Order: sequence, then structure tokens, then C-alpha cells
Amino acid sequence: MNPDIGADIGARALHILQTVFGYPAFRGQQGDIVEHVAAGGDALVLMPTGGGKSLCYQIPALLRDGVGVVVSPLIALMQDQVDALAEVGVRAAFLNSTQTFEETLRIERLVRTGEIDLVYVAPERLMTPRCLELFESSHISLFAIDEAHCVSQWGHDFRPEYIRLSILHERFPNVPRIALTATADQQTRAEIAHRLQLEEARQFVSSFDRPNIRYSIVEKTNGRKQLIDFISAEHAQDSGIVYCLSRKKVEETADFLNENGIRALAYHAGMEHATRAANQARFLREDNIVMVATIAFGMGIDKPDVRFVCHLDLPKSIEGYYQETGRAGRDGAPASAWMAYGLQDVVLQRRMIDESEADDGFKRVLSMKLDAMLGLCETLSCRRMRLLDYFGERSGPCGNCDTCLIPPVQVDGTVPMQKLLSAVYRVDQRFAAGHVIDVLRGAQTERISQWHHDKLTVYGVGADRSEQEWRAILRQGIALGFLTVDHDAFSSLKLTDLARPVLKGEQKVQLRQYQKPVKPKRQSSSRASYEEVELSRSEQQIFDRLRSWRMGAAREHGVPAYVVFQDATLREIAKVKPASLEQLRGVSGVGEKKLVSYGDEIVAIISEMM
Ligand code: ADP
Ligand code: ZN
Repeated sequence: MNPDIGADIGARALHILQTVFGYPAFRGQQGDIVEHVAAGGDALVLMPTGGGKSLCYQIPALLRDGVGVVVSPLIALMQDQVDALAEVGVRAAFLNSTQTFEETLRIERLVRTGEIDLVYVAPERLMTPRCLELFESSHISLFAIDEAHCVSQWGHDFRPEYIRLSILHERFPNVPRIALTATADQQTRAEIAHRLQLEEARQFVSSFDRPNIRYSIVEKTNGRKQLIDFISAEHAQDSGIVYCLSRKKVEETADFLNENGIRALAYHAGMEHATRAANQARFLREDNIVMVATIAFGMGIDKPDVRFVCHLDLPKSIEGYYQETGRAGRDGAPASAWMAYGLQDVVLQRRMIDESEADDGFKRVLSMKLDAMLGLCETLSCRRMRLLDYFGERSGPCGNCDTCLIPPVQVDGTVPMQKLLSAVYRVDQRFAAGHVIDVLRGAQTERISQWHHDKLTVYGVGADRSEQEWRAILRQGIALGFLTVDHDAFSSLKLTDLARPVLKGEQKVQLRQYQKPVKPKRQSSSRASYEEVELSRSEQQIFDRLRSWRMGAAREHGVPAYVVFQDATLREIAKVKPASLEQLRGVSGVGEKKLVSYGDEIVAIISEMM
């Protein structure tokens, strides 16, 4: 590090941001966090995925003397992280179980002599006497504890080794610590502060909004077909993730996409380790691949240009949904979160909760989380407001979700809801959705004649509505709490206490007006057209040319494409059309090292195409 940059930490931090990382300005609270930690303060940073947490410890590590230690549970990603830093000229290394002994000795020497700026270690490695002694005999600039929510025993990513990280405070009382996580809730935050002895640390809590993500939730009719329509209409040339509940469905869906000309790979925990790892590496390294996966695929997927995340099955909770959809658009460019959901999802999730081994208290928690998720699916107001509200953040309608863009029309649904509830009651709350709807629509089925349900007063009173329409009303009835799906083998519908005032006519019910599912059309501000608006035809050609150049450069350097340059940077280059290195230097994402590595080639491509 160069001590001549100037005394003022803020100015020096900005200088590093611009010359090393090539970004013109800090985002959100990054600047404050960097200054606080660089000056020796402890910090607890809560920032959504894609918020820019890495710079919050990387720049302080460059500003302070000594080696910054980054604790991360994601061993598989360390190589890419270190490579990405090497690309911008930062000296980084990692210590983990994938290395040979010689390699370990070499890295340890670099740490001791202070010849590197950052070293990544897994928590179990850090806790070994050898590693602790190494750090005690070296000059450590800071400890960054990434994915800090892993310390939470109630969370889904709990790692027992994380609990022991509190000893850092005892053994290195003078080294600043910064813990970072994208997990928002109050309880986890308190747990992190407590278990890592960071009660005194300054907390930096960012808004959890991801304004570039467009949320939409559609009614599931034929999930896979709808998925294809969505991808082809809005994200034909993009990388994306499709989440499914089961391994079998993952494989079937990946096959189906491939048969329909969309390049897809599969990922789930039941696959052979080598295949799984190879698929993940391809997804990270190449452009335009769709990864179809169970939620086993996720934590630490740092690929910044994932343009869409789809759910073909209902997630168990809003936390899960938000974390999974958060993997879209980390680079800040427009991205989509799309989900298809239907009544069958609710039935399935309820059954899974009921059949799980958990105790009753825990089942109640799971049930409440599922209800909140259903509420989000059936809401008549802005999805984002609802999401942020769940995390305790107040906001207004966002203008970038399906309910904001095409507001659902509210209608008085009291009468159809009464018909539905009384049909459930008349069949003694012993039948599932399909049969109840058959009764309402006056269908002639074997079961109806067997039970003489054609003699009921409700028989045929709903013949004026389609089956789809009744399913939509039923889902809203469940989301509003009038009905539940029973946990018995038949998934029979039951009334709750809330149904009574509706049946008695004491309570009116507002419902979403039924709209036939439509094929998605290209949205005017979706990314496909965003590019068309932003880039002229010739600029688009330059962009495409730069992308294929990037593929080759990435292969040559053995790094993922986005590590060379992100899409946003290539797009800006296509607009600016730099004729010299000096002009290229001004583009966001082009730091000094990359200017040297790639500048000439890029300027040559531009001049060739002009
Ligand atoms: P997180 O770890 O919070 O999910 P990252 O640190 O991976 O986020 O950053 C997300 C993306 O944002 C990265 O592609 C990074 O290069 C970019 N980024 C971070 N800070 C800035 C900034 N100040 N200006 C421009 N891009 C930034
Ligand atoms: Zn909205």
C-alpha cells in the first residue's frame, strides 16, 4: 500500500475504489463502513445480497497495515474470490483443506512476511492451534466474518464452528472485526452480536430492498410450459436459476428445457459430487445457462449477472423466497423473480409440515411461515411492500412488481366465497378441492352419484364459473384464513372459525377479479428491451462482440467470465466506444490492473468495429 496517498482515510478509500476496483463511487453505506473499519472500529454489517459487502472489508484491509483475514464457510468459492482479486491486482490467497502441504507452507510464509493483503480461511481451519499461532505471530489488519448468520442456531445455515469465533475477540483484542450477513431479521442480528461478542460494534443496517428485481407470481396452470414462455419472452439470452422442490422434478425440468432449446443444467444433493461440481462451475463460468436446482444450490453463488430466478414450487417461507430470489441481479441491472404457484403447492407444503418429525411448537412456526408466504402470493397490493414489511421495513408501492404494473381489480367476492364455504360444509368437510369444485359446478362424476351430492342445495350453484376460477377463489379463501387443507390422506377442506361470519353474511369479502392466465409479453422495461433502449443496433453489436471476446479471455485466465468484466461494464464500453486507454479508464469496472491486462485488446476491438 502506498502511504503517500494522503492522510485522510476517506480520500484514500475512494482512491482505492477508483484505481483498483474501477468504480466511481461508493454505494449506500459502503463508504462509512470502510472508514469505520479502516480506523480500527468493529462493525456488524447487514446488507442484502448484491449490496456490495466484499468491498467493506477488502478496502479496509488494503488501507491498514498487515494481512486481512476473511473467515468464510464457502471453501469451494475461495479460488474464484482469490482469482477475482488477482485480476484487479490485489494480493490474496486462501488456506483450506484442498491444498497440498507445500502450498500451505508457502501461503503461511506470505502471511508471516506480510506479502499478501488478504487471506481467506474456513472457520474450522482458523480454530486449529497452528493457524491461530500463525496469525498471532503475524501482523493482522482485520478479521472479516462473512456469512455471519451461520452462527445462528435457529437459522438454516448453522455451522457449529462459527460459535467458537468469539475467541477472536479474546485472542486478538486489538484487531478490528467486521461481521457481514444478508440475513435480515432482528433475532439473527441479536444472535450474531451476542455470540461473536460484537455487542459494542457499530451496526450498519441497509435497506433490504432490491429495486432492480421485478417480482411476479402467476397462477400455475402448466408450470413447465409457463416457464418456457416466460424465459423465451423475457430472458432468452440470459443466465438464470429455476428452483424446484424435488430432485426428480429438477431433472425432468432440466430435460424439458433442453428439449425446447434452452440450455439447462441440473443441480441437487442426490447427484454424484463430480457432476454437481462440474455443473456449478459451468454455470458460474459460462454465459446463458439456466441452472435447474433444489435449494441445495445457493449459498455463495456469487455470479453477479444472474438475470432471473424462477420458482416452480412454492417456497416454505418468505425468508427462503427472498434469499433465493436475491441471487438475481447482484450487479444492479434489471432482473426478474418469477413464480408459478397453485393450490396443489399449498396441499403439498401442508402435508410436508404435518409429516415432518418436528414437535408441535416447531410445526406451528412452520405453519405461520407458510401462511405468510401464501399471503404474499395472494396479496392485492404491492409485492415489494409486503416483502419489506415482513422484514420490518415500511415502504410504498414500488412500480416494479406485477401487482403494481397490472393492478389486480378487486371485486366483491362475498357470494362466491359463501357458495364455496357452504359447499365445503355440505360435503361434511371430508372432501378435497377437486370434488368440492365438481359439486359447485354441477359435474356428473361417479363420486358425486355415489355420495348423492347431486341432491345437495349447493349442487351446480357455481356452474357459471370455470374450474380455474373456483381454484383461484379457493386459494384466496385459504390465504384469507376461512379454509384450511386438512392433513389427512385426502387433503380434505375444512372450515375455520373465520368462515362463520362470512357464511352468516356478517362479513364482506374482497377478491381479486379472475383473469385468464395470459402468455407473458415482453415488458417495456424488461432487460431485453432495456438493452434495446440503452444500446443502439451498432452498440449492441459491439456488446455482443465484447462478450465473445470475454469468453476467450476468461478461458485463457481460467476465471469466470464475469471476473474479467461484468455485463454492465461491457455495455458501458459499447456506449462510450473508447478510442484510447485514457477513455477506457473512465468506464465503471475498469481499474488500473484490468486496463493494463485488457485495455489494448478492447481499444483494438472498438476501432476495428467503427
Ligand atoms: P454481496 O457480497 O453483498 O452480495 P458483492 O460484494 O459480491 O455483494 O457485490 C455485488 C456486486 O456489486 C459485485 O459485482 C460488485 O463488483 C458490485 N459493486 C460493489 N460495490 C460497488 C460500487 N461501489 N460500485 C459499483 N459496483 C459495485
Ligand atoms: Zn410493487
